[in-house]
Amino acid sequence: MSEARELIIAIDGPAASGKSTTARLVARELGYTYIDSGAMYRAVTLKALRQNIPVDDRNAVAELAAKTDLQFGTDNLNTVIFMDGEDVSEAIRTPEIDRNISPVAANAKVREILVEKQQKLGRNGGVVMDGRDIGTVVFPNADLKIYMLASVEERALRRQKELLQKGVKVDLEKVRADIRYRDKQDTGRAHGPLKKAAGAVEIDTTGLTIPQQVQKIVRLARQRLEKQDI
Ligand code: C5P
Repeated sequence: MSEARELIIAIDGPAASGKSTTARLVARELGYTYIDSGAMYRAVTLKALRQNIPVDDRNAVAELAAKTDLQFGTDNLNTVIFMDGEDVSEAIRTPEIDRNISPVAANAKVREILVEKQQKLGRNGGVVMDGRDIGTVVFPNADLKIYMLASVEERALRRQKELLQKGVKVDLEKVRADIRYRDKQDTGRAHGPLKKAAGAVEIDTTGLTIPQQVQKIVRLARQRLEKQDI
């Protein structure tokens, strides 16, 4: 029996579909590293806003992305992201970033830079990476690809709850509109659009609990590992 190689697990899906929470727990259960690719787009957006660079200035934002050092680390089992050495894990998760991220994510040069970083981070396996284009562009040969979805209503409720836990009160209608807007931007862009990758297993998480989602994916991962071992 040859030694099992650790898997590359790609999880894609729309905003607030439960990807990050699920991916983090799947990684924990398998002893893998979790990489939140969305955090990288968020960090570049944060840096542009802080430097007063218009997010739709493609060249300036691409130049900024090329000069930004992005590293992942762990803090009490939570994944944290460092931008130029600063822990920005909290600062990147605000409605302001949500509103400004689409032009950054649609920037072809920014995507090229971040995709390359993501490929470097995951190439040795033992990784769960979530995003929009992980199974299609970053790791088209991933060992396991998951496409997670949920209704707009369910996603809006989840996102509102998440923001409330952080003390940010937002109207449900506003959250729903933001999610619809991001869905449209994510699926409609020319580079790395959100779509189900070939061979991806679709999981509709509407009505599923987090542990149920996690167990579904862990089970699939264990099946792939067993197959690889023969
Ligand atoms: O996953 P999250 O909602 O944090 O991602 C934030 C934004 O980053 C998304 O709306 C999307 O536009 C962008 N993104 C992307 N490609 C990825 C991950 C995220 O374009 N692989």
